[in-house]
Parts: sequence; C-alpha cells; structure tokens
Amino acid sequence: MNDNSYPAANSAADIIELCYQNRIPLSEYAVRSECERSGMSPEEVRDKMHRRLDVMGSSISEARKRPVYSVSGLTGGDAERLERYLKTGKTLSGETALTAMAGALSAAEVNSAMGRIAACPTAGSCGIVPAALEAARERLGLDEEAMLDGLLAASAVGLVIGSNATFAGSEGGCQAECGSASAMAAGGIVAMAGGSPKQSFDAAAIALKSVMGLVCDPVAGLVEIPCAKRNAMGAVQALAAADMALARIESKIPFDEVLEAAVSVGRMMPEALRETSNGGLAVTPTALRMREHVFGEEA
Ligand code: SF4
Repeated sequence: MNDNSYPAANSAADIIELCYQNRIPLSEYAVRSECERSGMSPEEVRDKMHRRLDVMGSSISEARKRPVYSVSGLTGGDAERLERYLKTGKTLSGETALTAMAGALSAAEVNSAMGRIAACPTAGSCGIVPAALEAARERLGLDEEAMLDGLLAASAVGLVIGSNATFAGSEGGCQAECGSASAMAAGGIVAMAGGSPKQSFDAAAIALKSVMGLVCDPVAGLVEIPCAKRNAMGAVQALAAADMALARIESKIPFDEVLEAAVSVGRMMPEALRETSNGGLAVTPTALRMREHVFGEEA
C-alpha cells in the first residue's frame, strides 16, 4: 500500500482504525479513498469539491436575500423571513442555529424553485450539510479550506451510509435522506472543530438515531412540505450532535450498529410512509386540499 492508496473500508470502525493507524484526519481519508475509487489526484478531488462548495454557498444564501417561491406556489419566502428575524438579535436558539436554519431553508427553497443546488446526499436534503457546516465555520472563525475539510469528512460518513444503507426516502423513509444528511453534517462539523474521526462518527450516530423511523410523506408528492423545514431542523440537530461529541459524549451504540438498525427500521416501514404520499402528513385534510389546489385532483 502506498501513501495515497487505501483498502476499501466500508464501515465506520474500519475508517476510524485506518485514520488512527495512519495518523490522518477523516478529510484526508476521504480524499485518498476518492483517489483510489476514481483515479483522480488529491488536487483534482479537492478542486472538484471546491466547485461543489461554490454551488452550495449560493444555494444557502440566495433565498435569504430575497424571497424565493416554489414552482407549485405551495412554499417559499421562509428563508428570507427567518433572515429578517435573525437580524432582530432576539432569537431564542441563537445566531449559529438560526444561520443554519436559514441557510438550509434557502437551499430547500431554491431546489423547489428548480434553481441550482448540490445534492448532498440528495436534492430533498440539500440544505442540511452546507448550511450546518457554514454556520459552524462562521461560529468557529474558520476559512474556506477548513470548510472543504468539513465537507470531505462529511463525505466519509456518507460513504459508510452509501455502502451499507440507502439515501432514498422511497426505501428507508426520511431517516435515509434528512437523517443521513444530518449525520454527515454532524461528522463534518466535528472534524472542522478539530475532533477525532471517532468523535465525528459519534456525532453522526447521535444525529441519525435521533431521527430513526422518520417517515417520508411529501405533501402532493412534491419535495416541499415537510421537506424544507426538515432541512432546517436537520441542520440544527447536526450542530447539537456535534456539540455533544465535542464535549466527549459518546454514542453508546456505535455508528455502524445505528446504521444497521436504521436499515432494519426502513424495511419495517409500510410503503405508505416511503415517498408514496399515501400516509403521514401527506394525507391530512390540509395536505389533500393543497394537492387538489396544485393538481386539480380529488383526494
Ligand atoms: S419527506 Fe421524503 S421527499 Fe421530503 S426530504 Fe424527507 S425523504 Fe425527501
């Protein structure tokens, strides 16, 4: 094995061990793993991620500056609303949490308006990772390179999820989309703050198990309600999980086992709660009226 190549490591336990043995951070593991998989050089990998970061940066700020509405007209304007509230300086959750929420809502609204986003890991959950990482970057006074390392560390968490589970709401419910994104963001934030790979996966485990069983129930079959607000909550949850891990609180159940349990819960979930819009919030009277309004369909 040369310095830039790594054996396939599909579990958090393996990755933590590899990082420990080679004395490298999670971000470096992600770069070497991607080089191995794609044949790209480390510089090309970082450059590619930089371009993703640019798209993410625009998506988490665009709808904060001016109201952006979805094509269906069902949602929009909330990121700008939250931005104005944030500027009052009288928020309950504090500036970092509000920044994360506003950024996540912004990306979700840009997505619903058919704007440009970076799916991370999916379009439906596109706001969580960039908004949570950016809020943490601002809070910690870090630069863009640190943000890139955070994104790479988040991708290492995503690699484990992608190798052993699913990101699809149609397979695993919203725990698979927003839950995965929140876990990735939590792991990335810990890495940005100087935590160890083990702490990153502890944060990821805490975030994921907190939404285990979360159903996928989009109103009118559109990725808007409740998706946008789940993005906002997923970003805040990532920050909270990262804080716990940085305080050296461990996840008593290791990440690999939490993930296995989430897969098992997803399999037990009825089809009505897996993106079919036949259950959960999607069949409430208000949701059915919205569906009729958009598509002219009787419930
Ligand atoms: S509710 Fe379903 S469509 Fe919406 S973000 Fe969650 S998984 Fe995606």
